[in-house]
Amino acid sequence: MYRPQLSVVIPCYNEAATLPLLHQRVSAAVRAVVGDDHEIVLVNDGSRDDSWAIMQRLSAADPRVVAINLSRNHGHQLALTAGLDLCAGEQILILDADLQDPPELLADMRETMKREGADVVYAVRRRREGETLFKKATASAFYRVLDRVTDTAIPLDTGDFRLMTRRALDAFLSLPEQARFIRGMVAWVGFRQVPFPYDRAERHAGETNYPLSKMLRLAFDAVTGFSTAPLRFASHASVALAGASLLLLVYIAWGYFEGSPVQGWTSTMLVVTVLSAAQMFVLGMIGEYLGRLYIESKRRPLYLVADIAGPVRGHASLGYQADQPREPAEPATARP
Ligand code: UDP
Ligand code: MG
Repeated sequence: MYRPQLSVVIPCYNEAATLPLLHQRVSAAVRAVVGDDHEIVLVNDGSRDDSWAIMQRLSAADPRVVAINLSRNHGHQLALTAGLDLCAGEQILILDADLQDPPELLADMRETMKREGADVVYAVRRRREGETLFKKATASAFYRVLDRVTDTAIPLDTGDFRLMTRRALDAFLSLPEQARFIRGMVAWVGFRQVPFPYDRAERHAGETNYPLSKMLRLAFDAVTGFSTAPLRFASHASVALAGASLLLLVYIAWGYFEGSPVQGWTSTMLVVTVLSAAQMFVLGMIGEYLGRLYIESKRRPLYLVADIAGPVRGHASLGYQADQPREPAEPATARP
């Protein structure tokens, strides 16, 4: 199988306004480093705008663009998985389509990879431009909570922007789960991983596709995917509650012998509501894990491909199902 030196993998959802500039900047940055020996894998994640039409045009004009059209919106992490599954490069650069991650950093990231002998160079956000205080605060809190509850060391303030070697990517692709928190899964894979600090730019056009609901789902995928600590909450809480009941018992007995027995509707109701809330929380946690177990047990493909424009060189290992020719392996033009 033909392996270009570099694959750039970019999931896109409603990014029509950015795609032409994205292609221009990525192509220029990549050419400056590896010349023609690369591919740019664009994944259309069921966009409702013209993204797919533009991708087809880009792919017709540039034989190094592979455009993959998923059958519907599968979500960022699965769209990215599709691109990673179908790319073929020796090195793989993951980018966001909105140009928040400057493709021009590729040269420095490759430099770092070589110097450190690393398999993964992950970009760490030093500053984030043009994002709301709320987004920055929740993201920051999220990474710190995650760090506390998980056993895998998942780097703080890191997105999916990273450069990987083929060996790290193949290891990543051997993880079959549906609920995918990719930055955590890559961390889990191991090998030598080094940080690369950068300033995150503003979105080029449009607005974020990660509203609070999607961020919460990603957060739950992250916690449940990498930790069972929430399941242990019930046992910890039970110990604390047993201690509290003992104190209460002493207090009631003391009141009884003093001749002023404890009474009151308020305190009873308070105890009932607080404990009900705690029980519901525990049930909810069990539900989160059970639901994911159920989804995993169905073993559905991770994504479905509707169309491909351009030569797919990779061998899909995870979810690729459509009846597409996989083998036109040679590049459209001669390579060095
Ligand atoms: N994205 C996607 N599918 C989705 C949502 C987002 O492929 O359902 C892509 C989007 O086009 C972008 C990347 O995922 O390339 C990150 O999304 P976004 O910029 O909206 O997230 P943010 O940077 O605000 O966290
Ligand atoms: Mg973005």
